[in-house]
Amino acid sequence: MTSRIELARVDLRGRTPTAAELRAALPRGGVDVDSVLHHVRPVVEAIRDRGVEAALEFSEKFDGVKPDSVRVPAAELDRALAELDPAVRAALDVAIERTRKVHNDQRRTDKTTQVVPGGTVTERWVPVERVGLYVPGGNAVYPSSVVMNVVPAQAAGVDSLVVASPPQARFGGLPHPTILAAAQLLGVEEVWAVGGAQAVALLSYGGTDTDGAQLEPVDMITGPGNIYVTAAKRLCRGLVGIDAEAGPTEIAILADATADPAHVAADLISQAEHDVLAASVLVTDSVELADAVDAALTAQMAVVKHHDRVAEALSGKQSGTVLVDDIAQGLRVVNAYAAEHLEIQTADAAGVAARVRSAGAIFVGAWSPVSLGDYCAGSNHVLPTAGCARHSSGLSVQTFLRGIHVVEYSEEALKDVSGHVVALADAEDLPAHGQAVQARFGELR
Ligand code: NAD
Repeated sequence: MTSRIELARVDLRGRTPTAAELRAALPRGGVDVDSVLHHVRPVVEAIRDRGVEAALEFSEKFDGVKPDSVRVPAAELDRALAELDPAVRAALDVAIERTRKVHNDQRRTDKTTQVVPGGTVTERWVPVERVGLYVPGGNAVYPSSVVMNVVPAQAAGVDSLVVASPPQARFGGLPHPTILAAAQLLGVEEVWAVGGAQAVALLSYGGTDTDGAQLEPVDMITGPGNIYVTAAKRLCRGLVGIDAEAGPTEIAILADATADPAHVAADLISQAEHDVLAASVLVTDSVELADAVDAALTAQMAVVKHHDRVAEALSGKQSGTVLVDDIAQGLRVVNAYAAEHLEIQTADAAGVAARVRSAGAIFVGAWSPVSLGDYCAGSNHVLPTAGCARHSSGLSVQTFLRGIHVVEYSEEALKDVSGHVVALADAEDLPAHGQAVQARFGELR
């Protein structure tokens, strides 16, 4: 089926909106996680109280299959890798190699600052001990998400990793074999066949598997998922750390008359393919380009596999074309929008990209499409959505590290500053704080 596609237009030409007006004017969607909390809370509580037994019941209810055990046997991981399509294996090898190269370079080193003679503060970077990586498995299969979550955790030095992914009825209650193969390729030995909110809760509380083996709780959970996964992360936050609440994917393209409309259209479609709620936004100072992109979208939709899903995403309130006076105004728009993925397809794309302040990741020029970053650029594809790029970054080695300040002062260095500590403690009416210092010098008041 072919349909005529015209992205809805927001015309900002000749206007100078405030930051708040700009945010309100731009196309934006979102999901209402609160609306499913009442549905997800009983799932989390059941796992807390009854562990694996409850998890397997929810698998039967929501995934249509009850695995024999949660932990996937090692032999199944071996088998999945042995049977993996060689082309997919070669592609995963390249994706892993490039992603490792980038993430290994992100490792931080401890830094000691000599504050005064005899007084040092060291910032020591310590990896989270045990991490659970959620890999979605409802509508599609995402081996790339295994790579994007596991590689930075390993580069950070996380000792203990567990991958959780929904059991699939068509694979006898195991997660999708491509996910098992990707885990095996990355050296992850612990994979659990459990999905949705029950996976997040089981990772958080732990449990005892059907064969009596312990499923140890994790300290942190990362990885994307649907609204139930996100709601469960919100409920378990605190008990465990979570990376972020990933919303539907977004692409914004800042383009001028030099951009190729066929490339712009293809890239807008590529992200709309994820989800009916995905956002595809073009920001341009060229009405001719906007018209040509609409024509290219219409032409390309004739051969799009997931036609209905893409058409719904492109016609949703979260997608559209924003017309601006010039690239300077376009930059104000994309900075206010803070897209998960931002492409710059303009003259001097690198110069324009250097002026971007808010985006999950920036893809510069005609030869750096977002789908390169989804798989094989070396960058991470787990990125902040829904405008969170204004204050947050994507998944990285840093996500899995904690910076611990180690304070070491000598007697002389403490004595030297003791008067200031006492003065500030008294100013806060916390005299025992000051006395803890004075007691060391026989000055108790
Ligand atoms: P999923 O694994 O997140 O969810 C499937 C699970 O949802 C099932 O195992 C089931 O237990 C649970 N579930 C289904 N219906 C339920 C119900 N009515 N009540 C309670 N639980 C229920 O897989 P998915 O559904 O395919 O969603 C994956 C999401 O992750 C998509 O939105 C996709 O766009 C997103 N994603 C994002 C990225 C990223 O990097 N941002 C990458 C990959 C996927």
